[in-house]
Amino acid sequence: MTAVAEVMDYDEVLERFDPVLGLEVHVELNTNTKMFCGCANVFGGEPNTHVCPVCLGMPGALPAVNGKAVESAMRIGLALNCEIAEWCRFARKNYFYPDMPKNFQTSQYDEPIAFNGYLDVELDDGSTYRVDIERAHMEEDTGKSLHVGGATGRIHGADYSLLDYNRAGVPLIEIVTKPLVGTGARAPEVARAYVAALRDLLRGLDVSDVRMDQGSLRCDANVSLMPKGATEFGTRTETKNVNSLRSVERAVRYEMTRHAAVLASGGTIRQETRHFDESTATTRAGRAKETAEDYRYFPEPDLVPIAPSREWVEELRASLPEPPWVRRKHLQEDWGLTDLELRDLVNADALELVAATVDAGAKPDDARSWWVSYLSQQAKTLNQELAELPITPAQVARVAALVADGSLTNKLARAVVDGVLAGEGEPDEVVEKRGLKVVSDDSALTAAIDEALAAQPDVAEKIRSGKVAAAGAIVGAVMKATKGQADAKRVRELIIERCG
Ligand SMILES: [Zn+2]
Repeated sequence: MTAVAEVMDYDEVLERFDPVLGLEVHVELNTNTKMFCGCANVFGGEPNTHVCPVCLGMPGALPAVNGKAVESAMRIGLALNCEIAEWCRFARKNYFYPDMPKNFQTSQYDEPIAFNGYLDVELDDGSTYRVDIERAHMEEDTGKSLHVGGATGRIHGADYSLLDYNRAGVPLIEIVTKPLVGTGARAPEVARAYVAALRDLLRGLDVSDVRMDQGSLRCDANVSLMPKGATEFGTRTETKNVNSLRSVERAVRYEMTRHAAVLASGGTIRQETRHFDESTATTRAGRAKETAEDYRYFPEPDLVPIAPSREWVEELRASLPEPPWVRRKHLQEDWGLTDLELRDLVNADALELVAATVDAGAKPDDARSWWVSYLSQQAKTLNQELAELPITPAQVARVAALVADGSLTNKLARAVVDGVLAGEGEPDEVVEKRGLKVVSDDSALTAAIDEALAAQPDVAEKIRSGKVAAAGAIVGAVMKATKGQADAKRVRELIIERCG
């Protein structure tokens, strides 16, 4: 394998160079059907079962544009503060690749549907960086190749390759930023924060599953360096299909340190695509980067131009949901959170879960406490995303309600949550099956108290003589006797009562 390139210390990179970023994000739309045919648009499935003459590129098959995909593209453009083209076309991007049966990709070239926008991105310290958006255009996804027989799953060393065209023709929106300058040391953070903000925005629009792990949101990160004081951008590399937020950050950082080492030693950066290796957090060279001329773009003759009426555009603009950052501000006010508490919630990816728990009837503080502390710990232990835990906001709200009405202590409530996570059913079923209800029957408690007083006569004497603090020992004994299912406050009251 290729040796790992030399890298420069990150602080030294920043002393000598300014980074310039360009981010291209591909989003698979969640329309029912593909971009230019009626095939189902679903993830997975038996290979080559969601295909037809159009998406297989059979001679004579004619495409037709998916209206819903055009609408989603316009909503994305509007949410990114873009202008929407009054008239635009599709174009053929010509190249050969086995996973693309038509030998061209239907895309948009110099006439994108949306252009000239921006997205304000909040960074970790609460400050904002404005990412200028150059364009958002429509295109179609390719199929998938599976290389069999090699050690790495890559084509090199493979015995043969299999092709699955289920993904061919799935609607894609490609969102391209303008060059991002002035980020300095924060370039990796800006890249990650931008993709995160974009993901939240798209999720709010309900136009895509935005699952980076399944490839419905993919980021290509362009990085170049210019020496301090220079005015011309350096040569860039494009790290392809980075598939997690953390990897976006690490890929940008690695490329900065690698470019700097090459440039400082008098070398030149080759314009090329690169692949990010998760396990080593490094990149390796891909193919030399093509230029637009290589693709011989020309307007697609089989599709009519798209000319959305201004009424349609304004209708879509008026129906956009509240952007995530505005929603955050509203929730912060409703729930009375400090900036720090809000950021903790966002960083824990718990905001929407808490909101859904509050919608299901829980108090904001209770909902927040469950998700940010106990459930976050459980997610970490199980090595799962918080949202993937097998417990719903409604179930959490039910547990919180049982605590609020005195049916459960906090400790018992955690046991109920454990039961739900273990697949034992709804909270009430877990309470029933595990026998977790608080013992609120005073006669049962009194019996346990009398027993504890009899077992510790010296303590009983102290309480009778007015040393109320000594009651703690008896409370402890009663809690033990009831397996933690007594309400400690009520037990204390009864002890004082019994001892006059
Ligand atoms: Zn099809």
